[in-house]
Amino acid sequence: MVRSTHVVQQTLQACEGGPVLMSTFTSTNPARPAEVVAELPSHTAADVDAAVSRAASAQRAWARRPVPERAEAIAAVGAILTRRKRELAELVSREAGKIRIEGGGEVQEAIDMAAFVAGQGRAAWGDVVPSELQDKLAWTTRIPIGVVGMITPWNFPMAIPSWKIFPALLAGNGVVMKPSELAPACGVAFVEACLEAGIPADLLQVVHGGPEPAAALATHPGVGAVSFTGSVPTGRKVAAAAMEVGPKLVSLELGGKNAMVVLDDADLDLVLDGALFGAFGTSGQRCTSTSRLILQRGVAGDLVDRLVDRVAALRLGDPLDEQVDVGPVITAESGARIMGMVEAAVAEGAKAVVGGGLRRDVPGCDGGTFVEPTVLTGVHPDHRVAREEVFGPVLSVIEVDTLDEAIDVVNSVEYGLSAAIYTRDLNSAFAAVAAIDTGITYVNAPTIGAEIPLPFGGTKHTGNGFREAGARGIEQFSQVKTVYVDYSGRLQRAQIDNRSDA
Ligand code: NAD
Repeated sequence: MVRSTHVVQQTLQACEGGPVLMSTFTSTNPARPAEVVAELPSHTAADVDAAVSRAASAQRAWARRPVPERAEAIAAVGAILTRRKRELAELVSREAGKIRIEGGGEVQEAIDMAAFVAGQGRAAWGDVVPSELQDKLAWTTRIPIGVVGMITPWNFPMAIPSWKIFPALLAGNGVVMKPSELAPACGVAFVEACLEAGIPADLLQVVHGGPEPAAALATHPGVGAVSFTGSVPTGRKVAAAAMEVGPKLVSLELGGKNAMVVLDDADLDLVLDGALFGAFGTSGQRCTSTSRLILQRGVAGDLVDRLVDRVAALRLGDPLDEQVDVGPVITAESGARIMGMVEAAVAEGAKAVVGGGLRRDVPGCDGGTFVEPTVLTGVHPDHRVAREEVFGPVLSVIEVDTLDEAIDVVNSVEYGLSAAIYTRDLNSAFAAVAAIDTGITYVNAPTIGAEIPLPFGGTKHTGNGFREAGARGIEQFSQVKTVYVDYSGRLQRAQIDNRSDA
């Protein structure tokens, strides 16, 4: 059990001197819920307040350090993550239920993010434009916000903290993060790697628990920006509460209802590999998971038959077993919610052609909640299962006649995160890329698979316009300052019509 880590000890300290008795909670292995992974303190609003104060006082010195020096500290975190990759990947598998290659992928994503953000520390930091007046310079630079509050989900418990913490630190901020109560040890381990690399301990604070410390963080007057990743309903609450206490920069990365469109001319082998990876990877618990398979009618019958065979062969089990394809879902409540959506779909006329139930007999996984990888056919775009995020291993097949109809179905939901089109026809592919209303669109690749150097995020209810990763990832953690330097030695008036022919 992860217990006496530095960060946990630090966060177990009383706000005003000395250790105190504090209530705690545990995180458990979703494959075997009796196995405790970590014990964490349940923080209160007072603890959040203390964490914000500490981060604020450390931030002033941090912001005075040259940006390349901050970048070097981030690069050093990447080196530590690389050295500890196997151990950290295993922790992700144990606490978040991801299969081994996904746990490793999660840590690798954080390593890649460290390299990318460290590089940004020696890259262009603003714009320089020619001034409209003589002997005058005009440029922009970036300034920190102060203290940034971060509220993160359980399903990318190291990668998402890396997407937020590295750019926030590079921009010169202090950070208080509240990781998900379902995978807090991963957040703690990530922050410990940061501290080991030399990031000042007070600068980077972690608070633990559920909605109470999260809400206290979002509404704290000393927190200048709130960066939230999670579900749409929680994101709405966090944004409303944060804005209630005064204008703040609030960035939201929320859910998805991602679709894969398959036209009649597609390479069906490629489609099958992509659909399996997109829909059932991470047990369908990615924001970008493929949830709707929109098939042009000519390929539907053959493809569904082949898909059923492939899905039936997926091996469920302990994520640490290298032979396993699909791990558990995160909690029993999550499993019940997913089954409720499958049952509602069947009541509305859909049919589970493979899966459709819970598996309780998975060897070595007592008490784990395993949802059978499920394919539903006969789904109509109006069905609940076709409109709401399932966040589980359930793929809804919707048949259409034309590309235009397919695009209408893709765009008919309130989410706009990721979509994919499979076709060999160049014109259809580009027409779809232009018409699909999502933040990320793939051609002949599944809806999951974002890369660090490009922006990640969605349209419509998936977010509020910010993007994570990529060169723009720093925008939600900094303000732009515009600088004018006039070295003419006289008053030169801008915003005045100086032209003689006026
Ligand atoms: P969640 O919304 O249940 O929880 C997210 C965080 O919010 C957790 O830290 C939780 O403790 C906190 N929280 C819960 N209630 C709160 C409240 N009332 N006030 C303040 N904070 C509160 O989400 P989850 O189950 O952890 O994650 C899954 C969701 O996250 C899915 O909808 C998924 O699509 C989404 N997600 C989105 C992205 C993205 O980048 N767009 C990435 C990963 C996950």
